[in-house]
This record gives sequence, C-alpha cells and structure tokens, in this order.
Amino acid sequence: VFILAIESSCDDTAAAVLKDDKVLSNVVANQLIHNEFGGVVPELASRAHQQNIVPVINAALKKANITKEELSAIAFTQGPGLMGSLLVGSSFAKSLSLALNIPLIAVNHMHAHILAHYIDEEGFDKPTFPFLALTISGGHTQIVKVNHFFDMEIIGETTDDAVGEAFDKSAKILGLPYPGGPLVDKYAQLGNPKAFAFTKPKVPGLDFSFSGLKTAILYFIQKKVAENPDFISENINDICASIQHTIIEILMDKLKLAVKETGIKQIAIGGGVSANSGIRTTLKEAEKRYGWKTFVPKFEYTTDNAAMIGIVGYQKFLAETFEDATVVSKARIQF
Ligand code: ATP
Ligand code: FE
Repeated sequence: VFILAIESSCDDTAAAVLKDDKVLSNVVANQLIHNEFGGVVPELASRAHQQNIVPVINAALKKANITKEELSAIAFTQGPGLMGSLLVGSSFAKSLSLALNIPLIAVNHMHAHILAHYIDEEGFDKPTFPFLALTISGGHTQIVKVNHFFDMEIIGETTDDAVGEAFDKSAKILGLPYPGGPLVDKYAQLGNPKAFAFTKPKVPGLDFSFSGLKTAILYFIQKKVAENPDFISENINDICASIQHTIIEILMDKLKLAVKETGIKQIAIGGGVSANSGIRTTLKEAEKRYGWKTFVPKFEYTTDNAAMIGIVGYQKFLAETFEDATVVSKARIQF
C-alpha cells in the first residue's frame, strides 16, 4: 500500500509517502515569513501553502521514487488547524484523489501526533493498547487514554494556554524570536534548572494551566530587569533552564496522577514540544524511576509533519474508512 499524505494545518506545508507503515519520504517546507510577526499570520500561511504544496508533493514523490499512478490512497489533515491553511491541503487532496480515482482519507491532526509512534522505525518501539498519550504542541496540551487507533478519550487538558505557547510566550518575554520553544531548549541545556523558582499552578485533576506561569515569569523578569538592565543576557541559560524545569515538573506531576488513576504505565509523548530535550530525557528516565514504559518519537515526527498523517492514513486504509469529495475541513475537531 502506498499512501501520499498531506499536512497543512498551520504554517508548515508537508507531504510524505508511506509504503505500509514505513516512511519512504517526509518533506516539510517551513514558512519563515511568520518570524518577523512574532506568530503565525493566517492569511500569509494559506498563501504560502498554495505556493509550496505542488513542489512539496512532487519532492515527496520523487524522494520516494514512485509515480502518482502507483499511489493507493491520499490522506490529508482535516483539522484542527487554521481554516485557510487546511483548505489548501484538503482541496488538493480531493482533486488528486478524483483525478487518480483512488480513496481519500481524512485525518485528525491530534490523532496523528499520537499515532506517529506506529511508524515503523528501527530503534523505536510501538506502544500496545491501551496507553496514555501526552500531546504537547503549539495549540494543545492533553492527556489521552488511547484504547485503540480510533478510540481515544481526553482525560485531561489545558484550561488556558498550551504548553507550546508557554514556551513561546516565555521566550517572547526574554526577547527571543518566534517560535521561541527550540531556543529556550537550547539555552536550558547550558543552565541550572534550579537557579530560579516559579510557582506551579494548582489545577485539580488531570487538567493543566499555563497562563499563570507566563504571568509569573513576566513579573519576575520585569522586577529583575528594573534592578539590573542586563539581567536577561547575563542569566539567559539559567532562566531558560528554570522555566523548562518548571514546565517539565507540571507535566510530570499530571502524568504521575494519570498513571495512578488509570493504572496504565505505558506513556507516549507527541506534538511539537516533545522535541524538547529536557522532556525527552525526563520521560526516558521515568522508565527506571517509576517503572513506566515510555515512548519518545523520532525527532522528525515531533513537530508538524506529513509522515504522521500518513500512518493514520494507512490504518484508515486498512479499516476502509474513506471519504468522498463532500468532506469538509474543521478548524476545531472533537476526538
Ligand atoms: P497543534 O499540533 O496543537 O495544532 P502546532 O501544530 O502549531 O499545534 P506543533 O508543530 O505540533 O504545533 O508544535 C509547535 C510548538 O512546539 C511550538 O510552540 C514550538 O515552540 C514548540 N517546540 C518545538 N520544538 C521545541 C523544543 N525543542 N522545546 C520546546 N518547545 C518546542
Ligand atoms: Fe501539530
């Protein structure tokens, strides 16, 4: 089975070709135009998708060394995401499936961040059902009980900002360019995670909150900069390490509670923030520390990519869950 997958939910145009559960190609065109605006500009994003989609798909096919005629199905991201961005991918996928007369498969982007673990990769194990997924990305922070490929329940989620936003907004306070998450990670690796303490939010149950942390960081920085204008540049590593440490503790506290409540000890992480080196090490260490089995995705399947859309497409192909051209994109989508 050859699946062409298209992902265009936010600001990256991505295409991948899978042969069953193996990735033959995984191409991403990042839209750097948003950096100067400090966030994704929806109108610019959809326009850039229009420019990128044909070259990106052609590159994916070429890299996989297959022709369009050999494809078994086309999978695309139905949502959630920016409507103008989603429409570019869905329209293209619909047209191509009609032209080639092959099945069309709609994929939930958040399912894909979780099910990326089912891509066949040397050195990476696949979780068995049921497992817990911690999805940490630019728009979501969720603990999901995954019973089967398409049977998932959200058992905890953020009540305000997503963890990716917590990273990006903290970075902005520090004067770092957008998206700041990877930069916080980079500086954090050189700093002392216990240098500064930030209070953790008190949210009942398995839900999260990150907006209070952002405000605490803002007030802390304002106070310190008033005392010493060079405070940020002199302490950037320690500040980033401390912020990252606090975020990781918030996530780990909730994961521990989720394990206690569900009795499930298999934990998979997914989403852009699972690229974070501190989170990756902490999760791996949790195997020894708590007796969990943890799954950390291959780096290229953390931030938005089409390979993860392709693996869900493959599972839906096997289940024969197909759409016709009347399928609509959804900016918000429930599980
Ligand atoms: P969603 O998946 O919720 O729709 P999205 O697709 O926009 O959101 P992703 O691409 O999955 O988001 O993740 C992007 C987020 O990941 C950004 O907030 C970015 O800062 C963050 N991120 C990426 N790498 C790192 C890192 N190494 N450390 C911390 N955050 C990171
Ligand atoms: Fe995403």
